[in-house]
Amino acid sequence: MSTLKGLLSVTRRMARKALLHLFVFPFWTMDKEYSRALLADPDRLGTERYCNICGYRFAKFNLCNNRKPREVECPVCKSRERHRHLYIHICSLFPFLQGKKILHFAPEEILKKIFLESGAQYYDADIDPDKARYQVDITSIPFEDNSFDYIFCCHVLEHIPDDRKAMKELYRVLKPGGTAYLAVPLGAHLVEDLSVTDPQERLRLYHQEDHVRIYNIGEFTRRLKAANFTLDLSRPNKFPGALKSAKLTNIIVLAHKR
Ligand SMILES: [Zn+2]
Repeated sequence: MSTLKGLLSVTRRMARKALLHLFVFPFWTMDKEYSRALLADPDRLGTERYCNICGYRFAKFNLCNNRKPREVECPVCKSRERHRHLYIHICSLFPFLQGKKILHFAPEEILKKIFLESGAQYYDADIDPDKARYQVDITSIPFEDNSFDYIFCCHVLEHIPDDRKAMKELYRVLKPGGTAYLAVPLGAHLVEDLSVTDPQERLRLYHQEDHVRIYNIGEFTRRLKAANFTLDLSRPNKFPGALKSAKLTNIIVLAHKR
């Protein structure tokens, strides 16, 4: 009986996909990636969620985060909340990026693609040489003082034991008048004990095995100010309309060198 039920369910699902394929979102009329995402899960069809990077709407984003699954990832471009939030700022910079120097840490593919098309002098950097063209230790950046107009560095500093040194280095290589766009996972309180090195204990304390702290916004901004940055905070709740459905839940810190 259960086998029959299973077969009926699979048949119903296949028939539904075939109908969707033919009549609702025929693949020959639309972007392949979008049509593939809807065919892989027809329940994605809807308008409640909006990705401001690839421009598509869905009923839901993909669930991410093992500890507490949340809807964060765009099924097409794989952007997460922080990328969609950051993209709003990148769009406002985009007309002015020609010839500007950009340093991008832990380069996310979706943003890398945008920067490479911007006409900027683009430097992607990571401690892992397989992940970027420039192998860079953020606590000892191998570039001259005052080198970059913009730095993008999302979800890196929570991995760095000497984050104060990293912040000083970011300040050093930024040009006067330049801005570093920074984001880290934030909690209500600072959680940090640098003597903890056990991955399981780090997972328990900081929600990821290779994190060394969870900041709160007060401590994160305090440390950046101590490195001489002047700050503006971009809070997701200030964006109206369609961007509400882009689920922008991360604060982006705009750290300026005056
Ligand atoms: Zn997208």
